Amino acid sequence: MMDLKRVNDYMKRVEESQTKTFKPVGSKLKVGLDLGTAYIVLVVLDEENNPIACEKKAASVLRDGIVVDYTGALAIARELKEKLEKRLDGRELINCAIAMPAGTESSMKTHSYVAEGAGFEVTNVLDEPTAANSIYQIENGVVVDIGGGTTGLAILKDQKVVQIEDEPTGGTHVSLVLAGNYHISFAEAEVIKQDYSKHKEILPVVKAVVEKMASIVKKYVDPKEVDTIYLCGGTCCLTGIEKIFEKETGMTTIKPDNPFLVTPAGIAMNC
Ligand code: ATP
Repeated sequence: MMDLKRVNDYMKRVEESQTKTFKPVGSKLKVGLDLGTAYIVLVVLDEENNPIACEKKAASVLRDGIVVDYTGALAIARELKEKLEKRLDGRELINCAIAMPAGTESSMKTHSYVAEGAGFEVTNVLDEPTAANSIYQIENGVVVDIGGGTTGLAILKDQKVVQIEDEPTGGTHVSLVLAGNYHISFAEAEVIKQDYSKHKEILPVVKAVVEKMASIVKKYVDPKEVDTIYLCGGTCCLTGIEKIFEKETGMTTIKPDNPFLVTPAGIAMNC
């Protein structure tokens, strides 16, 4: 079983590292670059994996896990790297790990070029749900990463990843449904969706999209073999999403207090 308190405490510090720069232990810094459909995130950890600093920026330079605006992605990665180096008193960030949704390995080169173009040396390339499990450290179960564009999953047996899958349907689809229902723009829908006080009201409206995400998991997971879902990714911030998953899949569904930065922090751990 995942130690939920450990994960919650750790993720709280990752959250804090967005506004506060912590003093690193040792000389090595580890960086994780998450090029996402909705956000580009850079997380810096020290050699003991303590969160040091984190920067993120909303971006629409990827679609379904694939970089569609290379120049835009590069500019943002560079900007975030520079911001972090400034926060670290000019210390240069050299190595980084990157990740991509499972099944988009063909786009690995583009992801690497973005990281290299921003001035990093890429030391490791992972898939997103496997990166997330560096934080969760579950031995058996399924890690489900729901980002902006896709729902990804990694099935674990005896600590080993035995299967990874990824399908389109993510937070972007949730926002599109909200925009359609309320006759508002996509940008306005994003604001409403990220407002926790609105979650109770919007959940029934977006229930069908969340059920679709759960059905992706159900399609690949045999409930006789796997009994627990561990959620992460920005879309899982939606209050009550875990209840819909439980109902739809019949599996126990666990999510930490803040599932948003789990994958980027997990990527950094593997630098
Ligand atoms: P992908 O992994 O699909 O390429 P990504 O890495 O950009 O995308 P994340 O950063 O994990 O994905 O999550 C981004 C999504 O999470 C966006 O759709 C965003 O609107 C959504 N999101 C962020 N915060 C919240 C919140 N508080 N409530 C609901 N949704 C949220």
